[in-house]
Amino acid sequence: MTNTLPSAVTRRGRYDFPTLKQPAVASKGMVTANHPMASLAGTEILVAGGNAVDAAIATMFALTVVEPMMVTIFGAGFVNIRMADGTAVVIDNYATVPHAATPDLFDPIPPAHNHEVVDDVNAVGHRAVAVGGTLLGWATAVEKYGRLPLADVMAPAIRFARNGFRVSPYLNNIITLELDSMRRFADTAKVFLKDNDPPGVGATIVREEYADTLETIAKEGAAYLYHGPLGRAIADDMAANDGLITFEEIENYQIFERPPVRGFVRGYEIVAPPPPSSGATHIIQMLKILDNFPIAEMGFASPDYTHLLAESMKIAFADRTEFMADPATADIPLDWLTSDEYAAQRANEIQLDRSQEYAPTIVPDREHTSTTHCTAIDEDGNVVATTNTLHYGFGSKVTVPGTGMLLNNCMQLMDPIPGRTNSIAPGKRILSSMSPLIVLKDDQPFMAVGTPGGLRIFGAVAQAIANVIVHGMSLQQAVEAPRMWDRGLGLELEQGFEGFGGFDALSGDLAGRGHQIQPVYKVAGGMNGLMRDPESGLFIGAACWRADGAPMGYSGGDGLIQQGDTMDAMRKVSG
Ligand code: GLU
Repeated sequence: MTNTLPSAVTRRGRYDFPTLKQPAVASKGMVTANHPMASLAGTEILVAGGNAVDAAIATMFALTVVEPMMVTIFGAGFVNIRMADGTAVVIDNYATVPHAATPDLFDPIPPAHNHEVVDDVNAVGHRAVAVGGTLLGWATAVEKYGRLPLADVMAPAIRFARNGFRVSPYLNNIITLELDSMRRFADTAKVFLKDNDPPGVGATIVREEYADTLETIAKEGAAYLYHGPLGRAIADDMAANDGLITFEEIENYQIFERPPVRGFVRGYEIVAPPPPSSGATHIIQMLKILDNFPIAEMGFASPDYTHLLAESMKIAFADRTEFMADPATADIPLDWLTSDEYAAQRANEIQLDRSQEYAPTIVPDREHTSTTHCTAIDEDGNVVATTNTLHYGFGSKVTVPGTGMLLNNCMQLMDPIPGRTNSIAPGKRILSSMSPLIVLKDDQPFMAVGTPGGLRIFGAVAQAIANVIVHGMSLQQAVEAPRMWDRGLGLELEQGFEGFGGFDALSGDLAGRGHQIQPVYKVAGGMNGLMRDPESGLFIGAACWRADGAPMGYSGGDGLIQQGDTMDAMRKVSG
């Protein structure tokens, strides 16, 4: 360990562009999340002797309080864990379709590309709710891979719920967007609205009922939901409101510990969630396709590179539509999709001078970036990347009376048209795009990253990884750099490309190749991540401008106690 700031922090290299936020650097541990209070919760747990798993889950519980529009304990997600001893596991706590749901449950509004159904009932209200797994996944992660009791890990979240938190401009904006449907649910409105309107920026939201619920979970564990009164409260609320979820299926809900999908790109190994998240498979696929071209020489934001990103995304999307669903119901050729051979084959189809169509894109796109993500690393080198959601802003908008607990609307992610790969079926695991990635170099943690953003997640994460490993950006630059996205329905370009040789020049060139350009303010959501600088061993944390994210770490260490202790010994303990 050296005492100088690692070049990975200061590196501007070829791309000397300023970032809106600044990174954090620390030697003992690092947590990044999309709300500073949540990063604080994780850091507190690290300082208290927890490992990265305890810290990440503490952060997630805190996010259910302070970023309530993004995640809940009856939601869906993936916890990607890589322990210092090399154990790598993905806890799949994604949501499942209720057993009473049939393929024709909803009345699709043609062409239903974006999963629209009559009266929006797959998105708002009780029928939109799928059986949620977050609490069980998180409790299991702490029990099996953490060091501290669940009650300790939940303590910061309970405190925040009890004492309240400040409404940020971001939260105020999302409440404003979701206002009409939030007003329909009294138990949601009474907490998150003020006199039926959005609370002002700076107002305090207190969540007493939710604090009570979390406190009981801290005492009784996840069984309070999966085998106890909280689960019964969900089932009763469903029965009273035409919902489908029964107590029995809450009791039968299972998490899966899945081996990660893996792939090498330029000597870096990506270790990440397999299906039912499609995300990481397509990230590996895209990066491998891109690796068939001299993309470093082309350069970030160059028309050639941006064109290749678009083409590789469209290819990934074509495959997603064809293959991706619950792995228990679909035959997914994972090894093939992530192979060098297939990437080379697909790369051959790409023309540099023109945009092409690769397949029909019948996938949902009506989405809000309503998910959250965090990463944590500890001194021992245990690392966690976890993304979790309730799907849309405030999910189904349903709060179970008396509990303060919001319910997800993950049923909107299912194809409402029967007979397709991702159509509704009883008990089916819902298809996700989440990509909480861990990247290894020489078998050591190098980087962990993730973002909300629905379908745009994997394109956004692939770009961030390429920004670091191909374009040599610092992590902070990599998460903040402008993004693009193309699923075959037009090429979205963030207006931030203006700072890279001009938006008009780039979009004009791409339009000349046949791309339909759509200028957008942002693609996907608030990305955060961390890096372990291979030279110094220091941790670098970064969060981007697209949400309220903040990196937080701690350095220092035990004091010296004997007169003879040398500076060398001090360096050893203080880092
Ligand atoms: N709605 C989620 C998001 O905004 C995505 C859900 C998923 O792909 O798992 O990121």
